[in-house]
Formats: sequence, structure tokens, C-alpha cells
Amino acid sequence: MDRLPAGGSPLWAMIYPADYGVGMSSLGYQSIISEMRKLGVGVERFFPGPLSGMSVETGRNILDFPLISASVAYEPDLLSLLSVFMSWGLAPGWKERSQAGQPVFGVGGALSYINPFIFYDIADYVVLGDGEPVVEHLVRECRRYMSHGDRKRLWEGLAEHGSIYVPPIHNCQILNEKPVHRKKSVLADLDLARGKSLWITPESVFGRTILVELQRGCPRACRYCTIPASFGPVRTRSVERVLEDVAAVKDLEDVQVGLVTPEAGDYPELSKVLRCIRSTKRAVSFASLRVDNIKEEMMQALVESGRYTITVAPEAGNDRLRGICGKKFSNEEIIEKMVLAKKTGIRQAKLYFMVGLPGETLQDVETIAGLCNDIRSRTALKLSASVGVFVPKPMSPWENENIAGHEEASEKIRKLKELFLGNSNRGLSIRIQEPKESMLEYRISWRGLGTDLPPASYRKAICTIKNKIYPEKDLLREQLGLLGFKATYCLRGDWQ
Ligand code: SF4
Repeated sequence: MDRLPAGGSPLWAMIYPADYGVGMSSLGYQSIISEMRKLGVGVERFFPGPLSGMSVETGRNILDFPLISASVAYEPDLLSLLSVFMSWGLAPGWKERSQAGQPVFGVGGALSYINPFIFYDIADYVVLGDGEPVVEHLVRECRRYMSHGDRKRLWEGLAEHGSIYVPPIHNCQILNEKPVHRKKSVLADLDLARGKSLWITPESVFGRTILVELQRGCPRACRYCTIPASFGPVRTRSVERVLEDVAAVKDLEDVQVGLVTPEAGDYPELSKVLRCIRSTKRAVSFASLRVDNIKEEMMQALVESGRYTITVAPEAGNDRLRGICGKKFSNEEIIEKMVLAKKTGIRQAKLYFMVGLPGETLQDVETIAGLCNDIRSRTALKLSASVGVFVPKPMSPWENENIAGHEEASEKIRKLKELFLGNSNRGLSIRIQEPKESMLEYRISWRGLGTDLPPASYRKAICTIKNKIYPEKDLLREQLGLLGFKATYCLRGDWQ
């Protein structure tokens, strides 16, 4: 969209370890590339496919790039990252890459906000928190490295920034019980961030959409959620900047607006933003909406945009369990909002639920089907329920809870499938995330936080990042089964 300097140095490969369409719908990935281009860096994009190992910009081979970074957002992306490293001829571990004179590799992105130790044996460095305030130091040190070629000096230079975790330096310090002081980077003034897409492509999962950022951080405290504790305090972009970005779509053919924020209804000037989008006669999209925050104008904006589906996350089928999750809205309120949605012109609702929640019984699980039936009979909306197993993540209030054992999770899912069976022709369908996928997510999210690898002292280091202490857990060391990496996981229930 904007003209940024072409060419540049040093050559720097930026991987998004998922489909091109997913990467192109990541505002964080695009923002960091934009910042680096402004600094004159020769950044080029890489994806696992279809041009595997070749850059989108010039078709250059990844091995021509002395510096590689990746933005890793979700747990399964780690597997994709390791698998492309293997197929592109790159050693996955920082030690092996250093010994073989292979490129320096660094990580940023949502997963490193939650648990940077996932990458303790993979990355030369991990950027902690918002990338924008760190990128200048990173580029300066990497430019120095390009002239002196001494990787140890590069590591030392990177470690001078308090928001960069450098495993080759900090792992030893942690193992020797030396304090390591790291602090997550927080961009206090969001108006200094790019805040909008760099590229608009029909191949993005959102289609031809300009992504516009409204807010980072969330003031709520849903107990399963990592965002309030890991993504920093709530910061909003000024409405003037947002309106400027939204108004720019008038000059772009056939482009819609996607609002990027943990919860659209929390943005104080949302009405003004929606009015502005309406004046451009362009479509708008939101991520999932919080039931107690949905306003009629939001549903109207969706319908006027030709979108007839609303997505909400009740999480549980009854008020008691939902309240324990930290969501203080009732079944009745959900139904009222769905009735309003129907009146506004919405035709379909996607509902997200979890099973295996702390304090949940089999009867609680059955209430998911009951709630869906009630909504369906009172609104005649077409309903699609997505159900996954609750995964306790680091940095969430429920980080010390158990993940449901395989037997328990399968039984609950089986029960739900039975209750939903035969309802699909009545406009009610269910989509299940299999328990084994949730278990994989769980194992990856806790990678590096075990007691034996790294040892107890290693865990203490995360306190300087999170101001939290992880209690002892019942731990079991297991093979990740990939590339010979060993990882430590907290295994509970009957998972083996
Ligand atoms: S689930 Fe949504 S509303 Fe709840 S804390 Fe997380 S981001 Fe905020």
C-alpha cells in the first residue's frame, strides 16, 4: 500500500510459519517488516509454501540470507517452523547453526509474549513484547555483526537491550543462578505504531481487507486467557489516527476494513469509527464479539457489510461455569443478544465453547447442547458450535489448573456429539477440536518451563519477565518427536 524503500541491507528473511493467507492477515508481521524497511533493511517474506524456501519478493533462496526472523503466533506454528527449517537445510538449534556458520535466527510474535522459553534451544534471540521499541537496537547490532562476523559479540550486543532474551548468553547465567533481568517491551503510545496493513491481497484469510488496529491489551480477566497478563496494559490508538486509516479505503478499489483489537466493543470511539466506515460504503469485520459488549450498531454494521454471521464465545453452557471462567453474562443475555441479532438481519451465529474447564461436571457439558437448542428455538438462527478442550496456558489466571485427561475429554466430547447428532438438519451443527490437538497445544505452550530441563533456576528467570513464580509441578520429560528435541511438559490426567 505505502511506498517503502526497496532493496536495502543487510538481507533479512522474515518467516511466517503458516500459509501465505494467514501471514498476510497478521498485522504484527506486517508492522515489523514495515519498521525494518524504514530503517533500510532488505527484508523479504518467506512462507512454508507455495514458494517454499524462496522469498516472495525476489525468489532468493533463504540460505542467501545471513539473518532470519520469524513471527510465531500459535503453538502449532512451532512445528511448522521446525519442519521448514529441516526442509530448507537449516539447523533448528542455535548451537548447531553457530557451529555450522548458518544464519542467525530470532523470534517475535504472540507466542513469545506468553512463554519465550519455548525457543530456549532454537533461537539466537527472542524479542520480549512489542517489537516496535526494540527493532532499532536489533537492526543496529545485526549491522555490526555483518561487519565483524563474530556471533558471540552479536549475542552480547543484543543482550544489552533489556527486552531481548538471548538464550546463548542467558541460559548459562540462569543455570548458574545469576539473576537475569528482562522486561517486556511495551509500546506506550500506539499512535507510534504503523497500525494498518502494509499489503492488501485477496489471498489473505480476510480477503481484500485493510487491517486497522484499535487497541492492545484487555481490561478484563477471563481466567483461561493470556492476553491481560502477557500483552501489557490497555492502550488505544487515537481516534484521529484510526479515522485517517479507515478513510483511506475510499481510494482503494474493492477493499474492506478489518478492526484489530482483543474486543471491539471496548474501543471508546467505536461509534465514530463505524460511522466513518459507513460513509465510505465499505464492509467491516470484527473478530469474535463479547456478548455483554455487543451493540446494535455493531450488528447493523455487519449486516450492511453483507455479513450475516456473528461470532461469540459463551465458553460454557450455563451461568455458573461461565461465571467461574470470568465471563459474567447469563444464558438469558446471550439469547436476548441473539434475538436482537436476528432482528437486525443476522442469519447465522458461531458459538465457541470449551470442555474440561475447572469445576466442570458432565451435566455442565450437557448444558452446551441445551443452550444451543434454546437459542435455535427462540431465534431460528442457523447455529454452529465449535468445541475445544480447555488448555491451561502460562500467563493465564488458570495456568496452574489441569488439562483434562484423554479419557475424560473424549467422554465429554462423545456426549456432546450424541446430543448434537440429528440436529444438523435443524440448523444446528458442531465442530470439534480433537483432544490430541489440545494436548499438543498444551505441551508446546509449556515448553521450556519444566523442572529438569531447564532446571529449577531456569524457571526463576521467567519471574523477572512476569513477576510470577511457577509452583512445582508433577513433571515428566518427553520427546517432542521432532528433530531429536527433548522437551519437558507438565503431564497430568491419563496423558502419556
Ligand atoms: S477472552 Fe477476550 S475479553 Fe476475556 S480477557 Fe481475553 S481478550 Fe479480554
